[in-house]
Amino acid sequence: NSHEGEKMMEFRRSLPAYKEKDSILTTISHNQVVIISGETGCGKTTQIPQFILESEIESIHGADCSIICTQPRRISAMSVSERVASERGEKLGESVGYKVRLEGMKGRDTRLLFCTTGILLRRLLVDRNLKGVTHVIVDEIHERGMNEDFLLVVLKDLLARRPELRLILMSATLDAELFSSFFGGAPVLNIPGFTYTVQTHFLEEILEMTGYIMTPYNQSDDYGQEKMWKMSKQAPRKRKSQIASVVEDALRAADFVNFSPQTLESLSCWNPDCIGFNLIEYLLSNICENERPGAVLVFMTGWDDISSLKDKLQAHPILGDPSRVLLLACHGSMASSEQSLIFEEPEGVRKIVLATNIAETSITINDVVFVLDCGKAKETSYDALNNTPCLLPSWISKVSVLQRRGRAGRVRPGECYHLYPRCVDAFAEYQLPEILRTPLQSLCLQIKSLNLGSISEFLSRALQSPELLAVQNAIEYIKTIGALDENENLTILGRYLSTLPVEPKLGKMLILGAILNCLDPILTIVAGLSVRDPFLTPLDKKDLAEAAKSQFSGDYSDHLALVRAYEGWKDAERDLAGYDYCWKNFLSAQSMKAIDALRKEFISLLKDTGLVDGNTTTCNVWSYDHYLIRAVLCYGLYPGICSVVHNERSFSLKTMEDGQVLLYSNSVNARESKIPYPWLVFNEKIKVNSVFLRDSTAVSDAVLLLFGGSLSRGDVDGHLKMLGGYLEFFM
Ligand code: ADP
Ligand code: MG
Repeated sequence: NSHEGEKMMEFRRSLPAYKEKDSILTTISHNQVVIISGETGCGKTTQIPQFILESEIESIHGADCSIICTQPRRISAMSVSERVASERGEKLGESVGYKVRLEGMKGRDTRLLFCTTGILLRRLLVDRNLKGVTHVIVDEIHERGMNEDFLLVVLKDLLARRPELRLILMSATLDAELFSSFFGGAPVLNIPGFTYTVQTHFLEEILEMTGYIMTPYNQSDDYGQEKMWKMSKQAPRKRKSQIASVVEDALRAADFVNFSPQTLESLSCWNPDCIGFNLIEYLLSNICENERPGAVLVFMTGWDDISSLKDKLQAHPILGDPSRVLLLACHGSMASSEQSLIFEEPEGVRKIVLATNIAETSITINDVVFVLDCGKAKETSYDALNNTPCLLPSWISKVSVLQRRGRAGRVRPGECYHLYPRCVDAFAEYQLPEILRTPLQSLCLQIKSLNLGSISEFLSRALQSPELLAVQNAIEYIKTIGALDENENLTILGRYLSTLPVEPKLGKMLILGAILNCLDPILTIVAGLSVRDPFLTPLDKKDLAEAAKSQFSGDYSDHLALVRAYEGWKDAERDLAGYDYCWKNFLSAQSMKAIDALRKEFISLLKDTGLVDGNTTTCNVWSYDHYLIRAVLCYGLYPGICSVVHNERSFSLKTMEDGQVLLYSNSVNARESKIPYPWLVFNEKIKVNSVFLRDSTAVSDAVLLLFGGSLSRGDVDGHLKMLGGYLEFFM
């Protein structure tokens, strides 16, 4: 109705971006590339695409206009398109639509499409000139995601072929110079913003102010583990990290002269490797007693610690009481019903949102007054030398700290609680771009599938080019797994892999699992390798936990142990006893739930590629021949392989590159004294002092011979040579 429409228009006009509307439109019409920066919440994402849409509709070209706006995450593409449609008083799928993996809403008259960066890259696969598209807007470029960095190189080439195409880059930070010079000095517009003051408290001030006492016992970052530790009345052993010693030095250097002995004692117990759930709970319940109205935004690192914290808070008498508190989660994989609740401003209850760094810049919650910041985010990292990726919480950049703090001052003065001492200086100026800290295998496959020529030539033209060694490793790897031939051309396998948005080794397992009709256990294994280790090993109950895991074994395979553990959980879930089952067996209930969700996602992906037919559900491709599963594992994990050398009482393991390697103590194979197979395939090796293998499965000569390396080449000679090489090496 018109009253609503009027109110909405008023809101839109109040946004800082609205005041710059004319200069934005003029600059775009005079320049092929424009960079726009402006503080989070100023209206970049929701307004700027609309300005373009409105001005095009009013002009004579209206009918021909087609705007694509990319978002790094599917959740923002969906929520933003919905918001923009409702600002226009329309339904989704009219002039505004969206498209993300496996979902979309788009009509004949859709002129403005929000999509993930990945979707635009896939469209370029079949439509390299983006025929008919008039404007491409790449949002959140400050995040420096790998897909975005990659897309910018592709678009730079495209702009030369399509002189009338307009490119608009949007950033929440002011480091636009790099992008401007990448595009030959493109103009930069800055939208001036405004925020209220935010009162900032660091850990020592929080402790001093509240009198909260920290002990080594109360700082767990996992609700399940915390319960276990409590029961055993033992504190987790604290590793001495560099940050802990910075704090110790500061304590010694009397930087804290004005603080009470109790605060100092607490600080010396602070564990920088944990996010203190108890402290968060304590602060939240204090805020709930506070007279001051306003929502609370808690920055956590990822889906798993958010849901674990949510479980804990729901058991709290105040925080878990829905008549007093609206407790919400905000992360990449939340349900869309949960999404719209985040923006609601409920009366009489305190809204608490537990979020990942998605709420740092891509989603703005207007009524936030209190921010709790754990100082960390989950980030992939990669060490080119040992060629292994990992996803671990790490300290955020200084820019992110300011962003998080700023979230508290959107509507009125706010407060920010940093859950670490002021002296922690682990924060980098900017976050390293993803392209410099993740393995490049998938990216290289994409370069090939888009026909972009030589991989290393292409990457040398990126905003910041990755190390040569990282590029060579990636090319070597995808050749070894049979996705590229000697001349760097994609093989048939490579083509399939480039359509599956998972790591190539996992993609290979899914493909062969589908071909050999043993997909069900493979789905579990691939999902299990994509989440945090479901087998928990609390330090003080290591033996018990390892024994619990080995009950699932019996055939020299951690991967098969996972399949059995998951199946047991599934049965228990059916009787609503999933949590107890996890408890008894030292399993993470969070990981089990995540595996369940991922399995469904993988099945729909495989349907998309045509590898399994449309009627398949996860259950009817069911086979449990463990020889087949070994074959699939070997096919995916090769060249992650080591030989088993038996001596009198036990065995040792060797790889070609590292010589002697060891197993993690929680591997089921570490409990065996003999392994009746000549080889182990593994999915990860990590160098600590020695090289350790994580999750391994024993395989026979025949399996290695047939399934190691590439099936598509059918190059049995090559395998024989390879195998011969190994044999010679270990003789
Ligand atoms: P930016 O992209 O510059 O960070 P946005 O365009 O995302 O800013 O947001 C502009 C304003 O619109 C913010 O105040 C934000 O809170 C509000 N907004 C965005 N999405 C929604 C939504 N789904 N519901 C309510 N308000 C929203
Ligand atoms: Mg935005």
